[in-house]
Order: sequence, then C-alpha cells, then structure tokens
Amino acid sequence: MKHILLIGTGGTIASQPTDAGLAPGLTTEQLLSYTPSITRLCRTDCVQLMALDSTNITPAHWQTIVRCIRGRYDDYDGFVITHGTDTLAYTAAALSYMIQGSPKPIVLTGAQKPIGFDSTDSKINLTDAFVCAAGDLPGVSIVFDHKVILGTRAKKTRSKSFSAFSSINYPDLGVIRDGSLVRFIRQSCFDRPRFYEELNTRVAVMKLVPGMGREVLDFLFERSDAVVVESFGVGGVPEAGGFYECIRQWKQRGRVAVLTTQVENEGSDLGVYHVGHRLKSDLGVLEAYDMTSEAVLAKLMWILAQTKDPARVRELFYAPVAMDMFPQT
Ligand code: ASP
Repeated sequence: MKHILLIGTGGTIASQPTDAGLAPGLTTEQLLSYTPSITRLCRTDCVQLMALDSTNITPAHWQTIVRCIRGRYDDYDGFVITHGTDTLAYTAAALSYMIQGSPKPIVLTGAQKPIGFDSTDSKINLTDAFVCAAGDLPGVSIVFDHKVILGTRAKKTRSKSFSAFSSINYPDLGVIRDGSLVRFIRQSCFDRPRFYEELNTRVAVMKLVPGMGREVLDFLFERSDAVVVESFGVGGVPEAGGFYECIRQWKQRGRVAVLTTQVENEGSDLGVYHVGHRLKSDLGVLEAYDMTSEAVLAKLMWILAQTKDPARVRELFYAPVAMDMFPQT
C-alpha cells in the first residue's frame, strides 16, 4: 500500500463558520475523518503546517511547504497539500519551480465549500487528490472537480462554482472517473527532484488600464527587480504616457521588464502590432507568450534568486520548466 503525506495549510476545505465569516479551523486529521474511504486507498500521515485563508499565504509559506516535502521526500510515495483556492494557482506554480522533476506526485487540492457542509466538494476533491497521489502522476498538479491540471498552467477562473480551476493554454493532465485516475499526459521527471528554496520576492505585477501613465510603473520598478506588465491583447503599451522611456530607463538600471496579456487564453505575441513591436526589438523586454501570470511571477522569483545577469535571466525565462510555456521558435 502506498504511503501518502497529507500537508494541511488551511483554506475553505478546512474552514468552519465563525461570527465573522468562514475561517480555517479543522486539522488534517479531522479532514481525513470525513473521508474514511481514503484509508482503504493508502496509508496516511498528517502534518499541519499552517491554518490560513490562502489570501494570507506568502512566498515564505511556499518555502515552508518545500522544506516540509524535501525533509520527508524519501519517506513517502506521494504528497497531498490542502490549500485555499484563492491563491492555490500561485502556490502550484511556485512549487513547480521550487520542486522540479519530481517522480512522485505532489498534488494540491482544496474546495469551494467546507468539508462539514451538507453540499460540499471537499470530500470528492480530497479523495481524488489521494487517488492521484497514490498513482503514477509525477510532478506538481492541482486536482479539483475531477480534473488534474498541471501546476504551471492552473488559474482560478470561477469564484463560486465547484469547477473553480481551468488549465490555461494546455490540456488537462487527466480526469478522475469513478474513483480512478485516467491520465492523458504524463509529465517528464528526473530520478530525483531538484529542490530550490531561494526566492527573490522583489517581483511586481502591474495591470495596464486605459489612460494610465508611467507613474505606477516607475513606482514599481523603483522597488522591484522585475515588473510584469499585464497589457492588452497580444501585447503592447500606449504610445502616450512615457512607457517606452520608462522601460528603457529602468532596464538600463538592471531591472527586468516582462510583458504579458490580461487575456486569459492564447497568450502574447508582442511583435504583431506597432504598440508592442518596439518593446521587443529595441528595448529587449521579455514576453510571457502562453504562460499564466501566476507562473510568470513565480518563475521570475525563482530565476532572480539565482542570477541577475540579463542574458542568463533571459535564457532561464525562455527555458520551459514543467511545460509552463511552449518552446518559442
Ligand atoms: N478564501 C478561501 C481561501 O482561499 C477560499 C477557498 O479556499 O476556497 O483560503
């Protein structure tokens, strides 16, 4: 029988009603007591790392999760992490860079309704996560609403429905049907995972809106090593407002500029329009192509903890990790 470690971090799945709204209160052992069938699937151990609404999760918590898995990696066949849904996609992306090529499953899950509610998705999501953690599913993934989504491709796309997550610009890895994993794609992996604990959190994301000038961008560049600009359509910045000059100046001072798009599907293609072309050809900004903003943010934190050399940053940024982007020709 496989041996799986359940790592609790909080979230709706473990929440209970309080006078001031839902708050995480259940331990991992209590969660498991709601789903006795899991004990027939595998042997389990529990560790409660934190009990947080995932709005409160920070990169320091990602590091705590990585240290927990690294320290126990050889003792278990797979890992299930219960987590709030609000920042689950960020944590999944971060773990995908911080634990690369894991041959053992690292499965994140959560729920839209607490496990103690009559109508809840908690029990099925938790059980499905254990099915996957006990199966042949290398790497980091999210199991939610019967779907298995690659950690670098997940995005929360619904705030209330059970089908809260979508896989962006990449197919689902599989589905859980009648309690069994039907895997469509198997992530490639190494013999041993590569763990990275260092992150550089001086990365900001700015959403461009019509009429904006360079002031917000200046503010962010001043305080960050990299700024991701979520621009419009396939990508570009307004010709008025001083954006080109702003990016040129901050790049000269060693900052990293990345252009991505606010559009959920199909990604950027900066060279297409005049408003984007020059950013790439003259200013040499990086573009996210088909990556999610969650993955771009986490990837930059991972890269900038290793190097600030612009050529190396570029090389690492465009090198796919855990299928986070399709290689660009
Ligand atoms: N606010 C909750 C959280 O992210 C929502 C959830 O878990 O569904 O922790």
